Amino acid sequence: MLDNADISKELAKNLDATNNYLTQFESGTMGHFINGQRVEAKSEEVFENISPVDGTILNQVSAGSADDIDAASTAAMAAFPAWRDMDGANRAKILHNVADKIIERAEEIAFVECMDTGQPLRFMSKAALRGAENYRFFANKAVEATGGHSMPASDHINYSIRQPIGPVGVITPWNTPFMLSTWKIAPALAAGCTVVHKPAEWSPLTAMLLTEIMYDAGVPEGVANLVNGIGETAGKTLTEHADIKAIAFIGESKTGSMIMKQGADTLKRVHFELGGKNPVIVFEDADLDRALDAVVFMIYSLNGERCTSSSRLLVQSSIHDEFVEKLAERVGNLNVGHPLDPATEIGPLIHQRHFDKVNSYWDIANQDGAEIKVGGKAAEIIDGGLFVEPTLFTNANNSMRIAQEEIFGPVLTAIPFDGEEEALEIANNVDYGLAGYVWTGDVGRAHRLGRALDAGMIWVNSENNRHLPAPFGGMKASGIGRDGGDYSFEFYMETKNVCVALDSHKVPSLGK
Ligand code: NAD
Repeated sequence: MLDNADISKELAKNLDATNNYLTQFESGTMGHFINGQRVEAKSEEVFENISPVDGTILNQVSAGSADDIDAASTAAMAAFPAWRDMDGANRAKILHNVADKIIERAEEIAFVECMDTGQPLRFMSKAALRGAENYRFFANKAVEATGGHSMPASDHINYSIRQPIGPVGVITPWNTPFMLSTWKIAPALAAGCTVVHKPAEWSPLTAMLLTEIMYDAGVPEGVANLVNGIGETAGKTLTEHADIKAIAFIGESKTGSMIMKQGADTLKRVHFELGGKNPVIVFEDADLDRALDAVVFMIYSLNGERCTSSSRLLVQSSIHDEFVEKLAERVGNLNVGHPLDPATEIGPLIHQRHFDKVNSYWDIANQDGAEIKVGGKAAEIIDGGLFVEPTLFTNANNSMRIAQEEIFGPVLTAIPFDGEEEALEIANNVDYGLAGYVWTGDVGRAHRLGRALDAGMIWVNSENNRHLPAPFGGMKASGIGRDGGDYSFEFYMETKNVCVALDSHKVPSLGK
């Protein structure tokens, strides 16, 4: 355990190191990375990248134009045939190299991510490791990516093969940008696709580090390209570009719907990982100590800026008061502070606009008639920083806006229920369907809810524990498609059937 003096020493040391890492971004304007090199923007439009920690300007970033997107897409198209035709084992070697180089720069990635996003170091210290793991996992699968099935019929043999779809667009959000970029780009490259990446404008730094790392590791020119810019311009153009065959998108549900419209003319294949308003259901027969730990972790880690956060707590009436009292105490104890301080559990929210959105829910909760049991205001931690107090709403019901809308901050809404049927009804009565968490000692009930909950992923007696071969994705307004394991290849590849006759069947002969 660190005492106060050590903590501040630790923070000072981390700040020093971070300032060194950040100098690489300070001079000039950060452009794009196209065809294996950093390039200046074709447009003169620039935006400021501001740290949520204290409002300092981290750097100036080019707002990519249609010309920049076109240059990147053309490079991705030109590089595609050679990358597609490279032996899977060779692609795997390069992707393992990427993983090695990510690990070499793990501290830099973590520290830069903390300053750019406000995410606490205790979580970001693992961002590079998770990212590297994604590259390794899909590298190992690259050799078998083209594999299919054999489907013999009486006079024919049918077999399927898979081929990469072509250059793909990857559009990522700001909440955990490094990890999420690797989650999309690694399987695309393993499949044999080339990539144009448009990272979120509120957190562009680690995407540039990742692209640089990929080229250092031997990814050929044009295979992974990066264009910075604003969603409504650079992002939109990417979704409309004829050379781009598919869009892998992570972000808000309403943006997903826009992308679907934008991509309609070019018949884009889309993969959407969208928002959530995920229930965690705690029954009286659960291990309540473990449940309490998980409930706190799954909404207050990563600043609550997490698609799979359990932002609705459904707690059985018989244990409601006691559970909520213990929960309130834990929420009140959470340590809000500088993201580079190892003791910090909650850092600042990403951007002034998001901060204002989260802060607007205190009034909404009051108007709805809920109680603000803990928090419910901005926190004064660092001048210019976008901190809020971790918040717990109680006396809520499922029709309130605080129970229906994705707030995407360290904010939890607790709702009581009497029995399993009511819990299920409340859980499913929402537009989203990403994740569901169930805490119970009853095995039958665990399986019943596993089937009945409207969500792409159910965790029973567990927090969000990821297993890379397992499918990841949502139902309803939470997404289309699944990532993970072979599911990722289903998206990035075309399945082709080859039917070969055994020369035993009669071919119809017309016009004789
Ligand atoms: P967002 O939709 O505002 O932006 C995401 C990305 O889309 C950004 O790069 C943005 O520039 C781009 N974009 C915006 N408009 C566009 C357009 N018209 N065309 C093309 N691109 C466009 O989302 P956000 O606020 O950055 O991220 C938070 C959201 O992401 C939350 O809803 C969260 O739940 C979701 N999310 C989902 C998952 C998941 O796996 N389901 C994971 C992380 C985050």
